[in-house]
Amino acid sequence: MPLRLYNTLSRKIEDFHPLDGNHVRMYACGPTVYDYGHIGNFRTFVAVDLLYRFLRQSGYDVRYVMNITDVDDKIIRNSAHDGVTVQQYTAKFVDAFLEDSATLNIEQPVLVRATEHINEMANFIAELEKKGFAYRTDDGSYYFRIAKFPEYGKLSKKDFAGMTDGARVDLDEYDKDNARDFALWKAPKPGEASWDSVIGPGRPGWHIECSVMSMEELGPSFDLHAGGEDLIFPHHENEIAQSESLTGKQFARYWFHARFLLVEGQKMSKSLGNFFTVRDLVLRGHKPSSVRWLLTQVPYRNQLNFTFDGLTAAASSVEKLRNFRFRLTSNQFSAGATSAMAQLADDTIARMKSALDDDLNTAEAQAAIFDMLRKANTALDAAQAGQNNVRQGDVQPLLCALNKFDEIFCVLKDDDRPKMKAILDWARTEGREKEISSELLEIAGSAQLSDEQVNQKLAAMEAARKARNFKASDALRAELTAEGIIVENTKEGVRWRRK
Ligand code: AMP
Ligand code: ZN
Repeated sequence: MPLRLYNTLSRKIEDFHPLDGNHVRMYACGPTVYDYGHIGNFRTFVAVDLLYRFLRQSGYDVRYVMNITDVDDKIIRNSAHDGVTVQQYTAKFVDAFLEDSATLNIEQPVLVRATEHINEMANFIAELEKKGFAYRTDDGSYYFRIAKFPEYGKLSKKDFAGMTDGARVDLDEYDKDNARDFALWKAPKPGEASWDSVIGPGRPGWHIECSVMSMEELGPSFDLHAGGEDLIFPHHENEIAQSESLTGKQFARYWFHARFLLVEGQKMSKSLGNFFTVRDLVLRGHKPSSVRWLLTQVPYRNQLNFTFDGLTAAASSVEKLRNFRFRLTSNQFSAGATSAMAQLADDTIARMKSALDDDLNTAEAQAAIFDMLRKANTALDAAQAGQNNVRQGDVQPLLCALNKFDEIFCVLKDDDRPKMKAILDWARTEGREKEISSELLEIAGSAQLSDEQVNQKLAAMEAARKARNFKASDALRAELTAEGIIVENTKEGVRWRRK
């Protein structure tokens, strides 16, 4: 079965076939870097990350491009207000976006920046004007003439019959149902940043950025274009109008939109003030892996309601997966293999694939891995009780299923602590000490023992135990526990890992 994806353009689930054999070209609208991104934004970025990972796991060679909107109305306004250049204003938030993406194990796409493509945008607009799709107004702004593009509305399925030719809107984000000619290029305003170009001084509108950069990186027709559901109209509708008017070819073939992350039934957004950044959650003591898990739990076409209970439950799911792997890799089993465990692993891999092929049903893929965990843990319990329900040769297939799962979901690597420590340090340099919770301090605050120090303490603990000095060995164990080290006794002797 091929991958099936919902295409906003056709409003149907379709088989996904790239234009060019095995090669997938995809584009996602990236962040507007006027502030830190919130976890609603990251819901969309994580959804596209899962798609990217799954396409590659399915054998595709993928070129994935994302833009960084480092010029728009808000950025221009804020940088003018702070008396700094656009680049100076956005640098911090570009870095923050890259750091937060890495914190959430989002693989980095090819990144392109709007401010590095201003000339190409001006050229594109000049072409549109030549073809009659754009016109200049007295102040030196340029608008797209919607009346020249009869297919306008085909993505958002809005009916624009009866629109007034020439009615204009110069805001980048507008939610009016009636179509207006939208700004391609905005004439300079006193005190605000602008660029000189072949069509005169000014700055690009938001929509033109994505048309220009996606086609430059991926060609006039490419496979898939992604973003959050709020971008369907006007942003993506306008991208289609600009691009297809210029080239006469179909722009993106599949349109992938992630539904919103909600807080108490409302869209998480900056303007409503009901948002959390990744950093806010870590400052409260939550692990990055819990946040990633939470964001992947609900399939991308369903709304995801954010709650702190959900975040706590996510932490426990991740812990179960990590414990399972620890159990598999730290125990010794008798030689040979059971057919039951190999079969279980194979079935799980097949179930995960068919779930993800089904329009990225992440919830079903997670259910499959947890079924495997339940069954394998029962067998491991029996093995520990001396039965041969799991043998050495079963470890590899079970690990293989777990790793396949983790190629997509990416929560197994136990690296929360250094990531949390980095955010703790950041909060201190930003003067946000008041927001640092005791939970965060407990996990990331203390100077971490090195692996070698842990091994030394463990050896001392063992030596004390062998000498029947239980007081000393208990004290050492308590010290390790306080340092976040979990010590476990296995048939093979003592093993340890970090909490
Ligand atoms: P922005 O930085 O505002 O341009 O948004 C970056 C991405 O986040 C876009 O794809 C938006 O559609 C998406 N987005 C914004 N708010 C949410 C939300 N509450 N849930 C999911 N995605 C969102
Ligand atoms: Zn875009």
